[in-house]
Amino acid sequence: MSNTAEVIIVGGGIQGASLAFHLAQRGVQALVLEKNFIGAGATGRSSGMVRMHYDVRQDAELAWVSFEYFRNWTKRVSGESGFTRTGFIQMVAREHEDVLRKNTVMQQEIGIPTFLISADDVRRLAPTFMTDDFDLAAYEPESGYADPSATATSLINAAKDKGTRVVQDCAVMDVIVDSEKAKGVHTSQGDFFAPVVVNAAGPWADKLNKLVGLDIPYTTWRHDTMFVGTPKEMGPSYPSVIDFPNEMYFRPETGGLMLVGLEDGNPLGESPEGDTDHAQKGFVERAIERICQRVSVMENSYLHTAHGGYDGLTPDQHPLIGQAGPDGFYLQCGMSGTGFKIAPAVGLCMSELILDGEAKTVDLSIYRPQRFEEGKEIKGNYESIWH
Ligand SMILES: Cc1cc2nc3c(=O)[nH]c(=O)nc-3n(C[C@H](O)[C@H](O)[C@H](O)COP(=O)(O)OP(=O)(O)OC[C@H]3O[C@@H](n4cnc5c(N)ncnc54)[C@H](O)[C@@H]3O)c2cc1C
Repeated sequence: MSNTAEVIIVGGGIQGASLAFHLAQRGVQALVLEKNFIGAGATGRSSGMVRMHYDVRQDAELAWVSFEYFRNWTKRVSGESGFTRTGFIQMVAREHEDVLRKNTVMQQEIGIPTFLISADDVRRLAPTFMTDDFDLAAYEPESGYADPSATATSLINAAKDKGTRVVQDCAVMDVIVDSEKAKGVHTSQGDFFAPVVVNAAGPWADKLNKLVGLDIPYTTWRHDTMFVGTPKEMGPSYPSVIDFPNEMYFRPETGGLMLVGLEDGNPLGESPEGDTDHAQKGFVERAIERICQRVSVMENSYLHTAHGGYDGLTPDQHPLIGQAGPDGFYLQCGMSGTGFKIAPAVGLCMSELILDGEAKTVDLSIYRPQRFEEGKEIKGNYESIWH
């Protein structure tokens, strides 16, 4: 195999896969270097929620552009994303109702199918949900969840069909820089050369950034999820939910299961090599208590499995997307716990940025890696929820 390429992508998660796919669509065959296997990082652990409710316009735009892919996956990409429509409910405490209204209007302006519903409406959609602690929610009838490993694999396979090369078990150890230009990478399988190197290494990305002299604040976020049996009282289907009052989200999962994640108690700064096969001590107990507060019939459930995952996190909990450091070095990392559902659009916009000098589909400039030194952190309408 030739050791030269037009673009080298470090990392075969959903972000690297999406960029490879979109470059291939433009006739550019990237070389994807993955230290483990496709989807081995955050992507393989992702809860796969696909919804558009965000409190920053560009986030919602990226999610909306991506949603068109999920809805038409086989036609747009080929293969399967496993997208399953469940409807999505965003619940907020009473003091956040104004922000909910504002966000919903912003999303409607973008064209996203979403509207406000009352707690009684929520009961009609999901009779087993307890609704005494909120009055208003946002509803996205088209949203749902997808299978992140299948999604990443189908993007990679479609890119490979167009000539993209993928090397797994290939750890990038250093970036080759000459005259302040990225020239390639040293890896566990030898050297590879390209004038463009993209850091899509997820929770490991900081290491690569530091190797090229970048000093951008970056940490890791650990997040556990549990899978529990769905009691028959809940029926065959119910909406996916982000439940701010209980700092939790949940959704149906195949096989009669429910996936539950908590927004609190997610440690920062751990090594991404930590144990992800098991959830942290105490997580399952906390998650069971929380889900029973919202859906009391879950007392009749049983624990199936629980595990964890790591993602890259930035101080404003938004991605780093753009050029930084040596010429030809790009960042597409720091997805901060929310990089699955936006990945199709991020890959498309990154391909525009690399090939045309500017992202046209969605303006990516707010995500520029330089924003922290410029004092221009991204601020949403909701207060930070990852803690
Ligand atoms: C438990 C959990 C639940 C989540 N739920 C959701 C959700 O419901 N919806 C949503 O939108 N987002 C969710 N997210 C976030 C989302 O999954 C991530 O933002 C996204 O998967 C990040 O993709 P990535 O490609 O940037 O990183 P990764 O998937 O981590 O991919 C990076 C890849 O780079 C490889 N790599 C690292 N270093 C090197 C190197 N030096 N050389 C070669 N390869 C290297 C790794 O092996 C890895 O495969 C969740 C995340 C977690 C952890």
